[in-house]
Amino acid sequence: MITWYGHACFKVDNVLIDPFIPNPLCNLPYDEVMDGVDVIAITHGHADHLGNAEELSKTYGVPVVANHEISVYLSDRGVEAEGMNIGGTIKINGAKLTMVKAEHSSDISPTISGGVASGFIINDRVYHAGDTGLFGDMELIGEIYAPQVALLPIGGRYTMGIDEALVAIELIYPEIVIPMHYNTFPLIEVDVMEFVKKAEALGVEVVVPNIGEPLDL
Ligand code: ZN
Repeated sequence: MITWYGHACFKVDNVLIDPFIPNPLCNLPYDEVMDGVDVIAITHGHADHLGNAEELSKTYGVPVVANHEISVYLSDRGVEAEGMNIGGTIKINGAKLTMVKAEHSSDISPTISGGVASGFIINDRVYHAGDTGLFGDMELIGEIYAPQVALLPIGGRYTMGIDEALVAIELIYPEIVIPMHYNTFPLIEVDVMEFVKKAEALGVEVVVPNIGEPLDL
């Protein structure tokens, strides 16, 4: 099951990724978002991704998986956190997470480094690209992990825009694409239907989920 909570926040099976809740697209109650969640995964240190991981982890007793630097930052704040790094895989609470490259920054604050930004392969099936620009090694991600579903940023400015995401699709070649990281703020407003039309022309299925509605994928 895949549920979108706006921006880059998704629940994939029992993993909640980048819990920026509430955000301008989603103010669902924590109990609903955390229902069935056994792991929280963080792609990078920016506030719209690290989000409320600390509070949610402590309140619901769910561990956080993140890169080494973010895990140390969270551990120092009393959060149960598991560190990893790009290329590695962790199996935790019934979930399997492989951390993959992203082209982005990751500072938690101007004085606290959040290591290097990443994406995740979740349960050998779903690729959450995190915040990223286009990079050629997406072809390797497609080749090695062959994700059925790819969650790709399309909002531009801080990540890939529509045109770059279309190239990413050709590199990864998933069955299903779900756009993310758009229309949360005015700076990342795009016409999602333009993306849907152009991506479907490449032969992939594009799903634009309703906020909080679980998709049987
Ligand atoms: Zn970011």
